[in-house]
Amino acid sequence: MKKNFYKIIIILFVVQFFILFYTFLKKDEEKSPLKIDSKTYRATGYDNRIKGVILHYTALNNEDSLRVLTKQKVSSHYLITDEKEVSIYSLVDDDKRAWHAGKSSFMGRSNLNDTTIGIEIVNPGSQSSKDGESNYIPYTEDQIEKIAHLLKYLIEKHNIEPRMVLGHSDIAPGRKKDPGPLFPWKDLYEEHGIGAWYDEIDKISFMNLETFSKLPIMDIKKEFQKYGYSMPETEVWDSQSIQVVRAFQLHFRPENINGEVDLETYAILKALNKKYE
Ligand SMILES: [Zn+2]
Repeated sequence: MKKNFYKIIIILFVVQFFILFYTFLKKDEEKSPLKIDSKTYRATGYDNRIKGVILHYTALNNEDSLRVLTKQKVSSHYLITDEKEVSIYSLVDDDKRAWHAGKSSFMGRSNLNDTTIGIEIVNPGSQSSKDGESNYIPYTEDQIEKIAHLLKYLIEKHNIEPRMVLGHSDIAPGRKKDPGPLFPWKDLYEEHGIGAWYDEIDKISFMNLETFSKLPIMDIKKEFQKYGYSMPETEVWDSQSIQVVRAFQLHFRPENINGEVDLETYAILKALNKKYE
């Protein structure tokens, strides 16, 4: 009997406590002059702030990549090391700006730190050999698998269009070469449907040397601009324009990255513009 009495007392205490707590919360709410109603009216005109993903190589080992990306003024949203048994590291939340792109532009947008997600991959980058040639080291199979999974997740989460899955070199031609000619753009497209790639049949249809040889420089340059590259509007292939061509080749024609627009480079560009209008 006594036991039950105590039980009732305790229950009453708890109930009383919750009533007091609720009144206190309610009062606090009523006191606040800021009232936001996000239920009654909602807009239909809006889109995502994130428009693209930019791929980089760190040109550093794991330890140095982590140190630089976490302790200095450069950063990325994600880091993929070259260690097999570790996760992909998230260093900056998607809704925050990471400082990975620098001076950059693509598809009429500049300062791409504002609107893109940056992924850094541990890879040594270009190594100059004795004869002055640039040598690149392939990405590991494990890294490629991680890149594919992460890209799929980000593309779906932020509704990113194929053309906006880009390399640092695409958005900063000349200044940047990463992720380099060994980045598997073609495989990512063919095996996982990630990013943009041309159809071979379209490329072949544009391989007409006679038409190509008669084209004014500006007509060719307009095709680069149409796809999204910041191509200078000069009537010549100056060094800045050549850098843009090289950036395009690093992405879509890695077998030849000499910066010269030959028939095949032009045909690939036309095929891309046909597919991603
Ligand atoms: Zn980079």
